[in-house]
Amino acid sequence: MTFTFLGTGTSQGVPIIGCDCEVCTSSDSRDNRLRTSLLVSHEGKNVVIDSGPDFRQQMLRAKVKSLEAVVLTHEHNDHIIGLDDVRPFNFMQHRHMPLYGRTSVLAEVKKRFAYIFEENPYPGAPMIQPVEFENGETFEVAGIPFLPFEVMHGQLPVTAFRIGDFAYITDMKTIAEGEKEKLLGVKTLVVNALHLDWHHSHLNLEEALAFIAEIKPEQSWLTHLSHRMGLHEERSKLLPKGVGLAYDGLVI
Ligand SMILES: [Zn+2]
Ligand SMILES: [Zn+2]
Ligand SMILES: [Zn+2]
Repeated sequence: MTFTFLGTGTSQGVPIIGCDCEVCTSSDSRDNRLRTSLLVSHEGKNVVIDSGPDFRQQMLRAKVKSLEAVVLTHEHNDHIIGLDDVRPFNFMQHRHMPLYGRTSVLAEVKKRFAYIFEENPYPGAPMIQPVEFENGETFEVAGIPFLPFEVMHGQLPVTAFRIGDFAYITDMKTIAEGEKEKLLGVKTLVVNALHLDWHHSHLNLEEALAFIAEIKPEQSWLTHLSHRMGLHEERSKLLPKGVGLAYDGLVI
């Protein structure tokens, strides 16, 4: 199974429109971060976690030619708003795209994309098949077992996923003790870290490193990064052993 980081940037992406900071103007491709998304591939089949504003570009860049499903972490626009671009997969695969989410997330998607879910949608509109999951109940897509569990993004619940000994957490600020147990024995952990300062709904670098030290995976990757995390090259040198900044295109 492979995991490809399609995007590792926070909601505005990096570079940010109009910003002249050293990160936003860096010539290192690892400082270019599309909005956070992960491709999970298994025996030639692909599932994507989140479909943010860069979804189309991410599918093109990673040369994704078929897609079994879209799995959502939460309803913020930087994680869902590219959903309209599943249309090429609808046309190629001649079927609806399964869209996995918790009940509240799917309800919000139906509001924001009302035109998709009309009784008689416009011809050519995306074809989406919503599929609800419950936290703590593993579901399988394309032979990939997703165990959803809950983290908190300020006041908003966000779904994180464990797939075997791999775990993917984005947009977390806190996690309940009971949910932490789902991470027991995880070898590879992906977790969000925004920048160095305090934030009401995201872990900062210090908090993310403390969380990693508690979970003790063999390898961790930080994602959902702001330009204020600093240059990839320089920040990476300052991280503890076994912790890296993820970057777009990284495959594990
Ligand atoms: Zn986000
Ligand atoms: Zn900047
Ligand atoms: Zn969010």
